[in-house]
Amino acid sequence: MRIDILTLFPNMVKGPLKESILKRAQEKGLVKINVLDIRSFTHNKHRTADDAPYGGGAGMVLKPEPIFEAVEFIESKVPRKVATLPRGRQGPKSKVKVILMSPQGKRFDQGMAKRMAKERHLIFICGHYEGIDERIKRVVTDEISIGDYVLTGGELASLVVIDALVRLIPGVLGKEESIIRDSFYSGLLDHPHYTRPEEYRGMRVPKILLSGDHKRIASWRRKEILRRTLKRRPDLLEEIKLSNEDKRLIKEIKGE
Ligand code: SAM
Repeated sequence: MRIDILTLFPNMVKGPLKESILKRAQEKGLVKINVLDIRSFTHNKHRTADDAPYGGGAGMVLKPEPIFEAVEFIESKVPRKVATLPRGRQGPKSKVKVILMSPQGKRFDQGMAKRMAKERHLIFICGHYEGIDERIKRVVTDEISIGDYVLTGGELASLVVIDALVRLIPGVLGKEESIIRDSFYSGLLDHPHYTRPEEYRGMRVPKILLSGDHKRIASWRRKEILRRTLKRRPDLLEEIKLSNEDKRLIKEIKGE
């Protein structure tokens, strides 16, 4: 996968890309991430990328020209053809997605992360100030929000989205199993986790986890998954199909 991030503040995004999973994914060659300074696509000596809003009012608006030119520049560098994959293997989709980070966009979630992890090329546009000239919408394929609050810029928001989707690209995480168990992957919250020491400040690890009985541990974990979801996010339980065993466990939890 290739990812391009268009921003007025490249240093805001560069640091996190050099750490942890995002760094490893790039080193393994599973994703190539480029950070482009929107100002590099301006033409005057002051490298002006924003201007006052038409109609008056506070704040500045990002100009359309540098962003149109940046997107066109990136697209001109990327070969259009997608390599043919062996039959039966789901390959990356071919079209470039141009994503505008915006509090007015579609709310980001794990389902979107899963779908985006299958894309071949994503371009993220980070707004700043009051936002971007509306005419930018002509090159935008998707508008994404990370929640109902307003950030200073799209940099942190695009990093959130990129982090969530890159870890879902096959091969990025060592143990694919850990992704499947994560909250939201299968529509529920994750179970609690414990590690050594067995006892800390009087708090003990649940005995069952020390038993070595994998079947009972799996059943305990499933029950805790259901307990947490029931308590914290009951809405999620309405979205998924529960097995008879799940229903039995929920009844048990409610009776405790
Ligand atoms: N005036 C805009 C509005 O009310 O919709 C908000 C502009 S905000 C200060 C500047 C930029 O930050 C936006 O253009 C967007 O790129 C980014 N941004 C802010 N909040 C965001 C959110 N919740 N999700 C994604 N991007 C966000």
